[in-house]
Amino acid sequence: MRPLLWIVVPCYNEEEVLPETSKRLAAKLDSLIAREMVSGGSRILLVDDGSSDATWRQIAALHDGNLNGVSAAPGVFCGLKLAHNAGHQNALFAGLMHAYRQGCDCAISLDADLQDDINAIDEMIERHAEGAEIVYGVRNNRDTDTRFKRSTAEAFYSLMRFLGVEMVSDSADYRLMGKRSLGALSEFKETNLFLRGIVPSLGFATAKVYYRRGERFAGESKYPLKKMVSFALEGITSFSIAPVRLITLIGVLAVIVSVVMILYALASLIMGSVVAGWTSLIVSIWLVGGLIMIALGVVGEYVGRTYLEAKGRPRYIVDEVLE
Ligand code: UDP
Ligand code: MG
Repeated sequence: MRPLLWIVVPCYNEEEVLPETSKRLAAKLDSLIAREMVSGGSRILLVDDGSSDATWRQIAALHDGNLNGVSAAPGVFCGLKLAHNAGHQNALFAGLMHAYRQGCDCAISLDADLQDDINAIDEMIERHAEGAEIVYGVRNNRDTDTRFKRSTAEAFYSLMRFLGVEMVSDSADYRLMGKRSLGALSEFKETNLFLRGIVPSLGFATAKVYYRRGERFAGESKYPLKKMVSFALEGITSFSIAPVRLITLIGVLAVIVSVVMILYALASLIMGSVVAGWTSLIVSIWLVGGLIMIALGVVGEYVGRTYLEAKGRPRYIVDEVLE
């Protein structure tokens, strides 16, 4: 049985790359269908994540079959327009859930900027046919990243491993998911989505496909430092309460130290050698004050997130669908 494949692409202000991306994806899908690797009704879903440029107009033109230079069979392209910029993870989730509800057998997600080598798709489908429910695209190079991005990414992965979160190193959101794992994913209700941690936690038979990650084809990264920091925080806090436990541990240690200090102070008093002790006082006030501030910050982070989750707001709002 040839699977019905949906290729899901989140797009945020990608007018510079979309014509090229869609051209290559359409050609790729054509060749997959011609080689009978996927079913003839397979589709490409472009999710517009609240872009402010021509992205949606281009998607609509693709859907109508009249974007210059792109030739695709009718019905290949479909579009989903989100009402506001919901963020990469939410846009991706919106697309995957749409594909799932439309009855796909498997869905492949990839970035719009052609950094994910689309030629790895063939191998992903082969691994899926051999029984892997989830196939991760794993990059075998990091030379397209800046040194800063590389070292922060490494630190982040080790921190996550230390906190006990299973993640697939060097894999981003380029992966194939079968309909069983998509069904499982649809059960996750949290507003803060961290797919790179959630998907490995699903279980299922998995496989990896290695690919070379290229440069962004055109335009600039839609992940500025601020978004990257919040992405990392989301990953940590949505998977682990270890930071809160760490605070308790530090608290216990501080109490033990202070007991020793009290004993020492009492002993000095009895011995009659009372010290002025200004230095130690100032040092401990600052130290303890700092610890308390950190502790409050971490607890606040979790309380804030609980608040956001408790509201149970929708992750994204759909404005328009082009079937
Ligand atoms: N993206 C999105 N919403 C956002 C930010 C990014 O849908 O708020 C999409 C973007 O269009 C691209 C993918 O997520 O398809 C990855 O973004 P980008 O290539 O800018 O990230 P980088 O490769 O620099 O990490
Ligand atoms: Mg990119």
